[in-house]
Amino acid sequence: MPIKTEALVATLRGLIGTGNVIADGEALETLSKDYYWYSPVLRRQLDDKRADAIARPGTVEETRAIIAACHRARVPVVPRGAGTGNYGQCVPLHGGVVVDLGRLDRILSIADGVVRAEAGARLGSIEAAARAEGWELRCMPSTWVKSTIGGFFCGGSGGIGSITWGGINAGDNVKSVTLMSCEESPRLIRLEGADALPALHTYGTTGLMVEIEMRLAPRVAYDQLVFSAPGWDRLLDWTDAAARRADWPKRLVSQFEWPIPSFFKPLRRHLRPDEPASFLLLDREKADAAVLSAAEAGIGCVYRRPLGDPPQPPLITDFTWNHTTLWAITADPAFTYLQAGFGPDFRGQFAALARRFPGEILLHLEWTAGNSKMTRGAAAGHAPDSVAVGGIPLVRFTSEDRLNEILRACGEIGVFIANPHTCHLEDGGRHPNIAEKRALKAEADPLGLLNPGKMRTHPVNPFQ
Ligand SMILES: Cc1cc2nc3c(=O)[nH]c(=O)nc-3n(C[C@H](O)[C@H](O)[C@H](O)COP(=O)(O)OP(=O)(O)OC[C@H]3O[C@@H](n4cnc5c(N)ncnc54)[C@H](O)[C@@H]3O)c2cc1C
Repeated sequence: MPIKTEALVATLRGLIGTGNVIADGEALETLSKDYYWYSPVLRRQLDDKRADAIARPGTVEETRAIIAACHRARVPVVPRGAGTGNYGQCVPLHGGVVVDLGRLDRILSIADGVVRAEAGARLGSIEAAARAEGWELRCMPSTWVKSTIGGFFCGGSGGIGSITWGGINAGDNVKSVTLMSCEESPRLIRLEGADALPALHTYGTTGLMVEIEMRLAPRVAYDQLVFSAPGWDRLLDWTDAAARRADWPKRLVSQFEWPIPSFFKPLRRHLRPDEPASFLLLDREKADAAVLSAAEAGIGCVYRRPLGDPPQPPLITDFTWNHTTLWAITADPAFTYLQAGFGPDFRGQFAALARRFPGEILLHLEWTAGNSKMTRGAAAGHAPDSVAVGGIPLVRFTSEDRLNEILRACGEIGVFIANPHTCHLEDGGRHPNIAEKRALKAEADPLGLLNPGKMRTHPVNPFQ
């Protein structure tokens, strides 16, 4: 360990207690990593990266003291929630101190359809507390049981619920965020409404989020439904129509090409061999109508269970969004993935990909609210203005060249890809507000100490 870090570790131990600072062993390794290993490209780039120390503050004041000490020592600071991010987002590229915010986990209030929580609060705890008060999270990742609300805002995008409410960027889902700056005397910066948007999905480069306010949706009692049909197109037509039905309040619409369902070991006995499957979380009051409508289209409902309150496993969400990739890699480590947004002619795009890469790409689709201008209303009446087809297709990985060829081919036919094989913010997706993100970074992190290297185009980066 460099001498300056050794001195810093001693300082940090003095500030928050020896037990809350880790400077060696397996825990140091584990807390330096996330799920970047989904990508063979990132595995090569990030396997040897790790922090010099992990600090686990329990209060905002302890967090402030840690940041001030790291700033004095000019040591990089990498915020961390539960470490479930996929692109090495919280893997330190230049060592330094990982600040694990998991102890900053108080749910401060749930009132008037808004949750106010510390950034390390787990989404699973928030969802359970919200449901007890007649509310639910508008959107959450499939890792909702474990991941933190701060990690979701800084590293995620959307997921369960996004079919109705869009992602974190959409509408007024985010009420406010409070960031701690990385300066000699760290300040709290509270950003509300549209002003909070530049702080989202910035991989911890624009301040440490310490407190969050997120708007909630009225609680709905859901059924978990799985449908199966002998043909992809038959199931696709019905699933797409179901996703667009404003009179069916829902939280999830996913479809998987065979053999993806065969990877879902715990559900295998319910699933029909050689058939694609669709997973829906649907208002229980509409579930009978959905099953009937599917039967009329020649589609079977092969699994139906109420979602408990609070939700308890088995959860069909555990097989959707980027959990699908996890099941696939577990079944066959040669799989990796893409994050795709398809256009209005998504059927044509699927056909073009199948023609060009037969058997190499397996379709996993997720439907979401198509834009951020959503009508607001009671749960039963709430419907997005439009619906978009996206997803997380699986790719049988052979080489980086071939993967890049697939990425290029997607671009050529108008399939948008948020590239999951890079840990650089700008290369991983669309950032129409990147100038505002840079300006916020310049204000909150003038020395460029926060997660250095991740915001590639930030002009101040002393580590590159
Ligand atoms: C199986 C699987 C399924 C997934 N499904 C989804 C999905 O459906 N939707 C989705 O959007 N994502 C998904 N993800 C990615 C990830 O789980 C989510 O984005 C999750 O919300 C991240 O939360 P976390 O607490 O684990 O954050 P971490 O991984 O700890 O951090 C994510 C990023 O945010 C930064 N960060 C964390 N906390 C703070 C803070 N308080 N202040 C500033 N920066 C901070 C970190 O530095 C890092 O850059 C999935 C990942 C896996 C492995």
